[in-house]
Amino acid sequence: TAAAVEDLITPQVSIRYTQHLINGQFVDAASGKTFPTYDPRSGEVIANVAEGDIEDINRAVSAARRAFDEGPWPKMTAYERSRILLRFADLVEKHSDELAALETWNNGKTYEQAAKAELPMLVRLFHYYAGWADKIHGLTVPADGDYHVQTLHEPIGVAGQIIPWNFPLLMFAWKVGPALACGNTIVLKTAEQTPLTALFVAKLFHEAGLPEGVLNVVSGYGPTAGAALASHMDVDKLAFTGSTDTGKVVLELAARSNLKPVTLELGGKSPFIVCEDADVDKAVELAHFALFFNQGQCCCAGSRTFVHENVYDEFLEKSKKRALRRVVGDPFRKGVEQGPQIDVEQFEKVLRYIRSGIESSATLECGGDRLGSKGFFVQPTVFSNVQDDMLIAQDEIFGPVQSILKFKDIDEVIGRANKTRYGLAAGVFTKKVSTANTLMRALRAGTVWINCFDVFDAAIPFGGYKMSGIGREKGIYSLHNYLQVKAVVSPLNNPAW
Ligand code: ADP
Repeated sequence: TAAAVEDLITPQVSIRYTQHLINGQFVDAASGKTFPTYDPRSGEVIANVAEGDIEDINRAVSAARRAFDEGPWPKMTAYERSRILLRFADLVEKHSDELAALETWNNGKTYEQAAKAELPMLVRLFHYYAGWADKIHGLTVPADGDYHVQTLHEPIGVAGQIIPWNFPLLMFAWKVGPALACGNTIVLKTAEQTPLTALFVAKLFHEAGLPEGVLNVVSGYGPTAGAALASHMDVDKLAFTGSTDTGKVVLELAARSNLKPVTLELGGKSPFIVCEDADVDKAVELAHFALFFNQGQCCCAGSRTFVHENVYDEFLEKSKKRALRRVVGDPFRKGVEQGPQIDVEQFEKVLRYIRSGIESSATLECGGDRLGSKGFFVQPTVFSNVQDDMLIAQDEIFGPVQSILKFKDIDEVIGRANKTRYGLAAGVFTKKVSTANTLMRALRAGTVWINCFDVFDAAIPFGGYKMSGIGREKGIYSLHNYLQVKAVVSPLNNPAW
């Protein structure tokens, strides 16, 4: 596979959009500056992209404000808005192959995953939220006294959205779908590593009939463009996905500026629990997928593989074999399971954690180094004999590094699985309904996958307990993030005034 890393396929896609999309127009950065975006397979520059800063965010927020206060968007019927979301989904479907290629080129995920899983999910999510657009309404409330009381569910206004690089298109969808279905306008800042696909789909949204100013996309770095968005006085709501450290920063910026409500989807250190009764071969495969999927760059990765002592040795042997069989290489190649890490920082961070695992005397079963000499490829790595207090069992590594821990009984593993500052997800592998039920209730995590992992349906809410975040995205739950509730009270019999 190392040879495949050196010998790269040229993607069949051209880069069309590199400027900000503000008020329906592609425009240069106010400063005229650009920044490079890279191909993680080689580290080579693939395009220079407009570099947003305060002035660009100001312009985008003004456009979104105007579109919300004066534009046609909030005045349209919900049905008309729904039709635009559906037309957009059709256009995404039409451009699926091109979008998947661009996603792979800029992110390094396999083309197969982008084309067969992520693009269909993007389309499905917009169909889902198009379905909600005309079903959002308030209640009639039976209050005490002679009053007629009702609630109106109104869009909140201008939504600021900051997304990460690991699933650029899906994160776009999770943020933009519900916000538009509810009638809001948006300024979205993409991750500096992966600005390209969001610009492409935002353009498609305009082709689908989205009025200008409703969806503005600004490329740029976090501490400049991101911080300007989080602290903007005219942004009514902030939604952020990224690391827990940055989540704290944006929450503070939101609080210090105008107290805009914030939803956060942050890091994780999710347990994957293999019980005594598990079919070991199946458990190995699922635990492998839970960790290595998307180069290990998932906030919900099953990054602490807890295995019952009775099946531990067999599980370990087979997990090691599976990791050694993992096909790493050019993500455009058929059959490749793992591409490069996103960038040099993440690549070096992953290698640092591997060294830390070795130094803390976990047993390195396989992998442990980079693969090839070009790009950001990391060998699938498995550690056994991992202890709870080791850094590799506590920190989010965000790479292809599996940590296997041994446990004796269910109560013990519940305590250990929950002993983390995170609470994003958990996996349970067992044949026993009673064990599944016990674990499902005891695990402090926003998602518990039983005998499955990484099932992401548009209707299933996603989000974290503890320091994994605030709020839920997807499903009906995401609508609440983008709505204001107005209580309207009037006397049943108008007093004589
Ligand atoms: P990672 O470390 O995995 O890149 P981050 O949480 O830093 O994750 O990045 C997620 C998103 O947050 C990106 O769009 C990034 O530009 C943005 N970001 C980073 N720092 C800040 C900041 N200080 N204020 C606002 N956004 C930020």
